[in-house]
Amino acid sequence: MSKIVMKTPLVEMDGDEMTRILWADIKALLIEPYVDLKTEYYDLGLPHRDETRDQVTIDSANATKRLGVAVKCATITPNAQRMTEYSLHEMWKSPNGTIRAMLDGTVFRAPILVKGVHPTVRTWEQPITIARHAYGDVYRNVEMKIPGAGKAELVFTGEDGQEIRQTVFEFKGPGILQGVHNLDASITSFAHACFQYALSVKQDLWFSTKDTISKTYDHRFKDIFQEIYDTDYKAKFEAAGIEYFYTLIDDAVARVVRSKGGFIWACKNYDGDVMSDMVATAFGSLAMMTSVLVSPDGQFEYEAAHGTVTRHYYRYLKGEETSTNPVATIFAWSGALRKRGELDELPELMAFADKLEQATLDTIESGVMTKDLALLWDGECTAVNSKAFLQAIAEKL
Ligand code: NAP
Ligand code: MG
Repeated sequence: MSKIVMKTPLVEMDGDEMTRILWADIKALLIEPYVDLKTEYYDLGLPHRDETRDQVTIDSANATKRLGVAVKCATITPNAQRMTEYSLHEMWKSPNGTIRAMLDGTVFRAPILVKGVHPTVRTWEQPITIARHAYGDVYRNVEMKIPGAGKAELVFTGEDGQEIRQTVFEFKGPGILQGVHNLDASITSFAHACFQYALSVKQDLWFSTKDTISKTYDHRFKDIFQEIYDTDYKAKFEAAGIEYFYTLIDDAVARVVRSKGGFIWACKNYDGDVMSDMVATAFGSLAMMTSVLVSPDGQFEYEAAHGTVTRHYYRYLKGEETSTNPVATIFAWSGALRKRGELDELPELMAFADKLEQATLDTIESGVMTKDLALLWDGECTAVNSKAFLQAIAEKL
């Protein structure tokens, strides 16, 4: 059999621990036998990040800007314990944070659904994707305790000396106070990323804030989205047969729970934090969540939403077999290959991505799965270790 040929390489970002082991197995068993895989390889494993003083992370983000599509393995974000474990020169920043800042991206998280594992919300038939704005609001707040009676004011001093002043509250006794901000530029990037992603997956886009209460702050989000939609995307959405609509966050929650799923829900930073955990849990398992970072210029970085599964890795190091779920990492690869196929007009590569995903789902639906899914499964099934699961997928493929 001749292998599927690629035109442009994927940016391949290798990672750490259990997911690094799965990474090599996924490539060897599920991809390389069928695809003449072209990648530009960056080793984001912690030892190599430390050796290169984290330059490799920056290089991999720049490569993504240049080539357009990346696939990333989960990586360790160092903490004090990792400093000793890996004898690090510095407590390097989260690679995801570095890459997100360089690509100015928005993160989209979507669950992978299989028959046999039922969402807690019975009406949900298709995945709900959360698009979370990753800048500002309460994550960049300034807050203080108010010791006693006095006036709290909001003051803006322009570079030209202009002053804008508003009273927040006349305190009669002790209390608390908080200041938050956001930027037109960041909201604009967020909006572009959401519209582009909706077009790329051909799903409706919902956006919700609390603009009836926050008449200036949240309203600015609503206005920026609407302006950008009207100027840049309305015609494209109509041509793709999809819809953009804005609604209040409380109305959105009610609609989401009653919906069948199959849309993208764009949320402000805090709402996205809370709602993505709610949606993930209601759909089933963290090991079945995919994540894609989309830049406003249309670059894509695919990964699993979970981490390096450290607890399993320590057992693996002791020579034990682990039943770590590789599905989200497989879907990171299929997502990246499909996007590469789309951009390079390679229908065979796109079809391969579909088949790889189908083989994975078929394997689970035939009753063969890792332990985490076996716990959620209704009926009889066989829980296998990671390698046996990957081999079962390879057979289907
Ligand atoms: P984690 O790796 O997501 O694992 C937490 C627990 O969730 C595991 O112990 C396991 O539970 C379960 N789990 C997660 N993924 C699974 C899978 N694929 N198959 C089966 N079970 C799975 O989170 P963590 O332990 O908090 O973090 C470990 C490391 O990952 C940290 O160094 C952190 O910095 C890093 N991290 C990286 C990313 C990223 O690169 N995107 C994201 C998050 C965390 P049981 O042990 O009960 O089986
Ligand atoms: Mg959270």
